Amino acid sequence: MSKNILLINPWIHDFAAYDLWLKPLGLLYLGGLLRQNGHQVHFIDCLDPYHPVMLREGHKQPQRHTYGRGKFFRQVIPKPDSLKMIPKNYCRYGITPEIFRQELNKHQDTDIFLVTSMMTYWYPGVFEAIKIIKEVLPKIPIVLGGKYATLCYEHAVKYSGADFVISGAGEKQILNLLQDVSGEKISFMPDEEKLDSYPYPAFDLIRKIDQLPITTSRGCPYRCSYCCSYILNKKFLRRDPINVADEIEYWHNKFGVKKALLTTAHSYTATQSLVDGPAAKDFRRGRAAAANIAPSTTGAAIATTLTIPSLKGKFDGISIRVPSICGSLIDVTAVLKKKVTVEQVNKAFEDASKNPLWKGIVMVSKDQLVSTDILGTTYSAIVEPEFTKVIDGDLVKVIAWYDNEYGYSCRLVEMVEKM
Ligand code: SF4
Repeated sequence: MSKNILLINPWIHDFAAYDLWLKPLGLLYLGGLLRQNGHQVHFIDCLDPYHPVMLREGHKQPQRHTYGRGKFFRQVIPKPDSLKMIPKNYCRYGITPEIFRQELNKHQDTDIFLVTSMMTYWYPGVFEAIKIIKEVLPKIPIVLGGKYATLCYEHAVKYSGADFVISGAGEKQILNLLQDVSGEKISFMPDEEKLDSYPYPAFDLIRKIDQLPITTSRGCPYRCSYCCSYILNKKFLRRDPINVADEIEYWHNKFGVKKALLTTAHSYTATQSLVDGPAAKDFRRGRAAAANIAPSTTGAAIATTLTIPSLKGKFDGISIRVPSICGSLIDVTAVLKKKVTVEQVNKAFEDASKNPLWKGIVMVSKDQLVSTDILGTTYSAIVEPEFTKVIDGDLVKVIAWYDNEYGYSCRLVEMVEKM
């Protein structure tokens, strides 16, 4: 049976921290592998520089720069005794412990926590995360891995508070642990000698992707005496450059839209007339709204290209005003840059519906809906997977429902809260 696994990227406690393309790559590799084995994977990033609740609570957006580098949120915290003599602020970098607690409370059904660790001297941030997990969800086992856990294994076992500590590459060990602890059968195990046999990392779990790390090799062919590379990875492994290029292309395109058209079957609105009459801008909008199907323009196409400038000149659409008072259906037909299947398209929407970025906005319907069923829904797109069509691999049609009044209002409220 599949398990709910919560990945945690803990805080940094330090005098300074700057995001030079820092990503918990090993943890996200584990996420991809666990998914491949049928498990549900979720993610809390304590370092998340875009966490919406931090902004909502009035914390200043950390300064971020092109290509994903920049500052983190931070709070000044007491220095450990051994660092008291240093005349600088000591900080927790990332979200507040209160928000971390709130995030944990959303995952009461978690079966196991996987906590990573980076620089060895950042361990106080790891310990704080584990302590809070134990307070909020005390019965759920915690596995600690990563660089600190590998390089300072005995220290981590003795002081971290984790139930299990993993040293070295975690892939095989985690799957074996799940098998031992909960009888989870391993359905897919990559070849440890072949980096190309690993599933891609679960990068979709990151709230906002502005750069991604791509693995080309693990370990190092040299043995500099001061370096821990050999301890972290005993062998030097390289990927096939063609597979690396494929992965770069995959993340760059992730289906990539060449061009697209939308048609929205849109309920009538206050911009239309109740009975036939003159309308200066759009003659059809002057016709009796509740008695006609009236083709018209849509602001959604313009709004989309403003939001995603790369679609400018490649995306347009129309609306068809229909005689229902609320509840609309969008129909998007797109030509993609790569070939896909219906299953892949629907899986992308399934994944999006679980991605924190789209959670509560995109949903995949399990029911056979009609327009009155979606009145009052807070989602902006309830995708009907049954109607996803793919012609010759790259011509795709997708339809999705939305409450054109309430869904819009919900997004507006969220935006106002952010501002
Ligand atoms: S310092 Fe470490 S990673 Fe760099 S060349 Fe030496 S062994 Fe390799």
